Amino acid sequence: MDGYLKRYIELQKKFNEPDGKPESVRALYDFKEELEQAEDMQAKEVLVNVYNLLDYKKSAYDLLCKIGDKSEPKVFKRLANLKGCAEKWGDHYAVKKPKTEEEKQKEFEKLMQMGLPFFRYHPNPLDTGAFKQSEEGVICDCCQKTTHIYYSGPFYCVEEINYICPDCIASGKAAEKFDGSFQDEYSVDDGVEDLQKLDELIRRTPGYCGWQQEYWRAHCHDYCAFLGYTGATELNVLGVMEEVLDDYMWDEEQKEMIKESVNGGHLQCYLFQCLHCGKHLLWMDVD
Ligand SMILES: [Zn+2]
Ligand SMILES: [Zn+2]
Repeated sequence: MDGYLKRYIELQKKFNEPDGKPESVRALYDFKEELEQAEDMQAKEVLVNVYNLLDYKKSAYDLLCKIGDKSEPKVFKRLANLKGCAEKWGDHYAVKKPKTEEEKQKEFEKLMQMGLPFFRYHPNPLDTGAFKQSEEGVICDCCQKTTHIYYSGPFYCVEEINYICPDCIASGKAAEKFDGSFQDEYSVDDGVEDLQKLDELIRRTPGYCGWQQEYWRAHCHDYCAFLGYTGATELNVLGVMEEVLDDYMWDEEQKEMIKESVNGGHLQCYLFQCLHCGKHLLWMDVD
């Protein structure tokens, strides 16, 4: 067995173990980068496996198309299997490389430098896709100023709104001007008495896109921070599967569904974190 394959098998084994996920994913990413640099065929063959394991379905398919011998039934079958996923998902649902604390801090500083307001209930809206970037800039419907970062999540109002800048969300101007909200005030957890917090959540915080009605979790008498879209793989990678299942919200059947969920699949999970005790919580819905 060649060295690359041996290393792959070791890394795959670690990846499939329930503990130590963030480290094992980072190790796979390092390995992926190394293989991408390597020229020999064995490295490329192993790279197909690494892509597939990390759900880079399109990359896996494209590479196998290039290097695989299609006259071999095994290769042909594998290509056929990958093709559907590649066409449907591309690389969109690839397992993300977990960030170190240092990387998180750097990102935070970068956002500050960009002048992006901080949303405590949605701390990384660029990461979650709630904010999109535009090179040439777009005009905010609220303040009429050019913005290079604009909101692309739900905004419930009567008027047709194309673009809202982050500042007009943070200041509450957009919600006020269009009498709109970013989150339905009735689709939130109970237990937050402070109405200021509800106002901040629904009128001054970027929302997220659910398959169905978006729902916002709360914990420790406050709303949680929305961290992003997940499936079972991401929850395992982050090492929070046990934590999110430990929740009165879910019965046994739903817990099984969470364990089967796929990011971008028909059963979607949305990850939240308590701002006070740090507990992770989920919302889930089906398409
Ligand atoms: Zn604006
Ligand atoms: Zn809490």
